[in-house]
Amino acid sequence: MESLRDKYEVVIGLEVHAQLKTKSKIFAPDGTEFGKEPNSETSPITLGMPGVLPVLNKEVVNMGILTGLALNCEIPERCKFDRKQYFYPDLPKGYQISQYDEPICVNGHIDIKGKRIGITRAHLEEDAGKLVHAGAAGLAGSSYSLVDLNRAGTPLLEIVSEPDMRSSEEARMYMEELRNIVRYIGVCDGNLEEGSMRCDANISIMPKGSKVFGTRAEIKNVNSFSALQRAIEYEIDRQIEIVEEGGEVVQETRLWDDNARETKSMRGKEDAHDYRYFPEPDLMPLQISREWVQEIKDRMPELPEAKRQRYMSLGLSEYDASVIVEQMGLALFFDEVLKLGATPKIAVNFIMGEIAAYLKEEHIEITDTKLTPENLVELISLIEKNTISNNIGKQIIVDMMKTGEKASSIVEKRGLSQITDENAIKEVVQKVVDANPQQVAAYKGGKVQLLGFFVGQVMKETKGRANPKAVNDLLKEILG
Ligand code: ADP
Ligand code: MG
Repeated sequence: MESLRDKYEVVIGLEVHAQLKTKSKIFAPDGTEFGKEPNSETSPITLGMPGVLPVLNKEVVNMGILTGLALNCEIPERCKFDRKQYFYPDLPKGYQISQYDEPICVNGHIDIKGKRIGITRAHLEEDAGKLVHAGAAGLAGSSYSLVDLNRAGTPLLEIVSEPDMRSSEEARMYMEELRNIVRYIGVCDGNLEEGSMRCDANISIMPKGSKVFGTRAEIKNVNSFSALQRAIEYEIDRQIEIVEEGGEVVQETRLWDDNARETKSMRGKEDAHDYRYFPEPDLMPLQISREWVQEIKDRMPELPEAKRQRYMSLGLSEYDASVIVEQMGLALFFDEVLKLGATPKIAVNFIMGEIAAYLKEEHIEITDTKLTPENLVELISLIEKNTISNNIGKQIIVDMMKTGEKASSIVEKRGLSQITDENAIKEVVQKVVDANPQQVAAYKGGKVQLLGFFVGQVMKETKGRANPKAVNDLLKEILG
């Protein structure tokens, strides 16, 4: 397959649905909280009762504008809503209110490692409900399905990219950056596993050098970044095989099965005319004033790329900066620590080292621990003042996360402060020298690398509390 791959160029465009984190639905007052009693968040509007009218939730529009701006989109002065007709049991109205030819955001882009990926448009729409298939849910019988309409009417922003990606890695990086952006601006949880962010991947192949795109297949049901990459890789090989055997790729929607590691045909792909779009008569076109857009722009928090650049300008490597930004909880914590004036490099070592390791082990977020930015800053200052060694700091940070206790109080209680008193250290050094005559002779005979052995012995005696520099100096002095 590898050599066949070289003959083809891969073209990928993603359609990403981000569930907007509003308290109520896009056109109804029902709550949007996840995990409620089935069908408890279902007003007559959500149920599509005759005579009810949708009322647009302003916060949905605010979030749509904010996301558009973060994605470098234009926000047209006017957008409108349309009905997209299809009959599904989880959408009682028989149509979805979406935006067809006048979406809220157009002509954007984001840059992924220096490569620009175009964003064609982003439009607002309502989500459908959920079908619970009895067999899959472990309910008695397998010949029926239950409908939960709690999710019906939840606001979505569908972000459509240009077909600008050329590999599964690029698609993954684009998706990861989109997720970072919606999370940092606070409009979406970006949780692929729980479905608050969903991705349809459009994939086609064409002979290398060709300017004409091939027919695409659309892959649904990818719910992790690694699954996205696997699904794309599988689909590329499937299409190459078809073309190599003289066949043609058909335009269709395919489902990714992450257990079987393959895509399966779900249905032929609808064209726009199949949906019989028409303007939603119950909602006025939306006028978005330039003042409104400016107001939202003024609220824009720092975006992930700017954060990475700022961290790098503080001396972090590109890798470290990316890893921290990827974990929003840690990045926001780090920002607080920086605001309090801590030395970035020492703070990063703690955050990326002991702290990150502990969080990973416990499967928790930094906000689930009792560590405050103030306490980390205090710990760092103890190290910088030579009150404790870096090693002692590493030993007590986990306790600080568990108990919320200040470093100075742990140090005092356990007598961990560094021994800087020269006479006290000298006494220990002398003791170690006296106890190891053989090594002393070897050292004096030229085996200077034995210095490390002596340092280690002194540290052992002092339980790591002796000031390392003083130990080194005194050893050299005494050993001559
Ligand atoms: P639809 O809504 O019917 O799926 P769109 O025109 O909105 O169709 O396109 C959906 C996605 O498909 C976009 O992200 C676009 O970049 C991508 N796309 C379009 N043509 C191709 C192609 N030949 N190969 C891969 N992706 C494509
Ligand atoms: Mg599509």
